[in-house]
Amino acid sequence: MSVPMLDLKAQYATVKDAVLARMMDVIERQYFIMGPEIAELEQAVADLSHTAHAIGCASGTDAILLPLRSLELQPGDEVITTSFTFFATAGTIHNAGGTPVFVDIDPQTFNIDPDAIEAAITPRTKAIVVVHLYGQMVPMERIIPLAEKHGLALIEDGAQAIGARRKVDGAWRMAGELGTAGTFSFFPSKNLGAWGDGGMIVTQDAALAQRLKRLRLHGGAKQYHHEEVGLNSRLDSLQAAILLAKLPHLEAWSAGRRARAARYDAGFASMAPVAAPTVDPANEHIFHQYTVRAERRDALREHLTARSIGSMVYYPTALHLQPCFASLGYRMGSLPVTEGAMAEVISLPIYPELTDAQQDEVIGAVGDFYR
Ligand SMILES: *Cc1c(COP(=O)(O)O)cnc(C)c1O
Repeated sequence: MSVPMLDLKAQYATVKDAVLARMMDVIERQYFIMGPEIAELEQAVADLSHTAHAIGCASGTDAILLPLRSLELQPGDEVITTSFTFFATAGTIHNAGGTPVFVDIDPQTFNIDPDAIEAAITPRTKAIVVVHLYGQMVPMERIIPLAEKHGLALIEDGAQAIGARRKVDGAWRMAGELGTAGTFSFFPSKNLGAWGDGGMIVTQDAALAQRLKRLRLHGGAKQYHHEEVGLNSRLDSLQAAILLAKLPHLEAWSAGRRARAARYDAGFASMAPVAAPTVDPANEHIFHQYTVRAERRDALREHLTARSIGSMVYYPTALHLQPCFASLGYRMGSLPVTEGAMAEVISLPIYPELTDAQQDEVIGAVGDFYR
């Protein structure tokens, strides 16, 4: 039995009629840019995220870039972030005019280490970009005081974490709720995926929301009047329509991912060479990825591929070691926990439509490899 890493067709079959109906509304109206679907989806995502405002934009990458642009970074301004993430997290810092400062991660959750953030703060630090990696939140309650003490913006890259939450002082707080701004990606493979590119920013700050709405429209809220130079970064009405049809399923999909994660955990419990993901007890994980540490990782991957089982390594080369950032002076050894994770992690198929039989195939194949 083959088990793909992701099976978008399986989800398509369950939402097809609802999605096509909403798309047809847009098509019949012929209102493709900034139609009413945008505000409707923004309100829905703001509600989900417990925020006062949401701003749709063209991608999860632009969702990070736009709030960074609002900071008006000057050459030499530093933005502290994790190296163990998708490229966009740091590419946007560079493209907003800042210098990424990479710090190490927590070996249990793979999320940015708050102590390492504190140690990296300098007089040039302007912001912190955290990533809720694989679908579980960073300990915001440890990072917010650092940002407040030093007057830094705190951006939550929630591309992998829409609907994830964390108990802080006894209350559930959503991904995107507590930072200066939180960001989401609707890339098709994300937990809430469009049928193309899309992104969204959430914030509690009314002035920032207004600024971001301007920045996504060439810097002018009023047509043909530009207060500043912005981007063309709108969310497409058709994509918003698709997302509105899919959003009501998100909670059940996240629960389905958690159930499958628990099933993997049980399957791997007796396999010493495989370390199941650690969920911080304060977190409700949404398992965008189910990522284990595995002995002889690359050979395991080859074994799985030979059995037609999908897997991926997120991320094989951390960002501090990317050629484009060579001038920043990092080298192998700069971030040992990150570099250890790079060599050991492997993500296995996890999606709500994954069947028990498919999961048993994955668990059985991993077991066979180490036997
Ligand atoms: C997917 C992703 C992004 C970028 O989102 P796009 O919609 O592809 O631009 C940014 N950060 C992280 C952590 C991601 O996983």
